[in-house]
Amino acid sequence: MKFHILAVALALPLYAENLKTVDDFAAAAAKANAVLALPDWEHTPEAVDATTKNAIDTANKALDQIGAQDLSKVTFKSTIVALDDLDWAASNAASRAVVIKESNTDPKVREAAENAVKTFQDWMVGIDYREDVYKALKAFANTKPKLTGEDKKVFDETMRDYRRAGLDLPPDKRKEVEDLRKQLAKLGTDFDSNIVNAKAPVVFTRAELDGVPGSFLEAPGVKNTPPAGAEGNTESYTVLANVTWQFVTVEENARNEATRKKLYVVHDSLAKDANRPVLNKMIELRNKIALRLGYKSWDDYQTEIKMAKSGAGAKKYINDLISGIQPTYDAEVAEIQKMKADDTHDPSAKIGVWDWRYYDHQLVKQKYAVDKQALRDFFPFQKVIDGMFNIYQSIFGLKFEKITAPYKWIDDLQLYMVTDAATGEPLGMFYLDMFPREGKFNHFAEFSITGGKLLANGKYQRPVCTLLCNFPPPGADKPSLMTHSDVETLFHEFGHCLHEITTRAKYGRFAGTRVPGDFVEAPSQMLQNWVWDKKVLDTFAADYRDPSKKIPAEVIQKMNDAKKATAAVFYRRQFAFAALDLAMHDAHPESAQWDCVDISNPVLEKVFLPIEPSTTMVTYFGHMNGYDAGYYGYAWADAIAADMATVFEKASQGYLDKQAGMKLRNEIYQQGDGRDVAVSIEKFLGRKQSVEPFLKKIGVKGGGPETKKIAPGPTKEQP
Ligand SMILES: [Zn+2]
Repeated sequence: MKFHILAVALALPLYAENLKTVDDFAAAAAKANAVLALPDWEHTPEAVDATTKNAIDTANKALDQIGAQDLSKVTFKSTIVALDDLDWAASNAASRAVVIKESNTDPKVREAAENAVKTFQDWMVGIDYREDVYKALKAFANTKPKLTGEDKKVFDETMRDYRRAGLDLPPDKRKEVEDLRKQLAKLGTDFDSNIVNAKAPVVFTRAELDGVPGSFLEAPGVKNTPPAGAEGNTESYTVLANVTWQFVTVEENARNEATRKKLYVVHDSLAKDANRPVLNKMIELRNKIALRLGYKSWDDYQTEIKMAKSGAGAKKYINDLISGIQPTYDAEVAEIQKMKADDTHDPSAKIGVWDWRYYDHQLVKQKYAVDKQALRDFFPFQKVIDGMFNIYQSIFGLKFEKITAPYKWIDDLQLYMVTDAATGEPLGMFYLDMFPREGKFNHFAEFSITGGKLLANGKYQRPVCTLLCNFPPPGADKPSLMTHSDVETLFHEFGHCLHEITTRAKYGRFAGTRVPGDFVEAPSQMLQNWVWDKKVLDTFAADYRDPSKKIPAEVIQKMNDAKKATAAVFYRRQFAFAALDLAMHDAHPESAQWDCVDISNPVLEKVFLPIEPSTTMVTYFGHMNGYDAGYYGYAWADAIAADMATVFEKASQGYLDKQAGMKLRNEIYQQGDGRDVAVSIEKFLGRKQSVEPFLKKIGVKGGGPETKKIAPGPTKEQP
């Protein structure tokens, strides 16, 4: 890869200099009434601090202005729009701080940005309690304004935010809610720290780890040094139950059931003593807050602003999926149970939570062996990027052009301008920062930098965003070769980028990916399908040593079969997590003593597999702070993703279909949350939503009595 870049640079020295700049798009932007601007990046800790201070001062002045106006003269513009304006400006500064924190190469600048992010977060919570601002908004609401469309939506939802913060309540009750929220935030921090700090080394002998790959046993820190002077076989190994890859490797490979069970019990008891009381208190506080605010439960409070709309809606959805998947799940468990029975010579052997990873892994290895490492030869980084760009440009009617980045935090940072292919209208820009380095964000994600918004002068601010990824760096004599899972991640993350950039939502709070949490992942989850399709893969995946070689059809078939073969167990576990989360945050009387483990363990066992009763899985379930009463959103978005994919699957060109692509861009991406996403989904589908495509995808054939019970879509009960 390095060689490749060098060769291009040497052969085409003018190429780099000839890249366009943002200014080259000024005329096109003016014609389209669009504003194009790259952020003014801060380069020093002092600059980060100064920006934070300025952004907050400016926003506070704007808040003061809203609060100080004559209440008899309030208008939509002087209240709701003014609030969106200042929130948008402050959010852009905060987003930039997030990106600097995650990507800057100077630890001092990163540290300053981390402080800036905290400062912004605290300040944003405080806005909820600006009584003067609320009075002005309330005065406007009291004029009973006749609004429509996006204006009505922004008005309704702004007022809803204040109501949800407790501003509608009498002062003493409001103060109580504010205090409860502060206590809850503090407990959330404790809950997270207890998870981070939970460490559980488990020592095994070589025999106990039979089946575990040698590369794992030789990994640094796993093999213990025998005590000085020890004789005989004293080999021992330390497995950290709290380190996911170590836990998963042993659970997937250890032949010995006792080993798997021992490690699982330790893993599912992590943070048991520390977090059980903390989570109990959190549930109690959440329940109190919900009741004070007039909701029946925390489920209802959390889902009100999502597609699910109510706890009952989320529960019904998950329960329908649980029963819908039952036949496939039973068949899959029966298959691995038979493997265990053969293995243990015990015909009555049952699969426990500690067994499924092992037998699923064996099943895939035996029946659908695909050499994941060899597959990487078909995915050289630049070819994958170019291939994905070609597909997305074609189906979404876009053009991506690499342009000069005035400021680069790393040498190989790339900047692209996105324009509409038909009209040349500039739509926005994205950065690519794709390889790992010390101190950088260590997952894969899309980050917004500048949000889209219709400005007061009538021009539209086009968005800027970035991907921060960690693909395998190029080797000395090889390009960067991606795994199939990396390619899937890239197609997913870049989808968020398109959602961001093609937006036309009027208000900052609705633009791009600022859609309900149980929907935001759906379009990107849908795009993951692309990389499991031979027709799509053949457009770019080729052996880097001999590009005439494509991935054989039978390999792609096997990959798909393997995914399907274990899908029911995978999803049923997801549904179990969703169900136990909803059960914990269900309605319960304030006086009742509810214990998180007593509620969640029976659900886990009922929906998923037998557990060891002493375990406390929820005490180490990080999602319970932040995704509380929200875990169902994964399955929810998965079902919508499968449903939306059918529009492409039925189109003449399949996943490469331009008409379907333009429909996605116009009805989903462009709308953001400016229109109810349920409406956008139905417009894209051209029909009501259905969970059937999702059930089909995970192997439920359809037609059985269970599948007929499935409701056509999410229910809409109001709390
Ligand atoms: Zn995502």
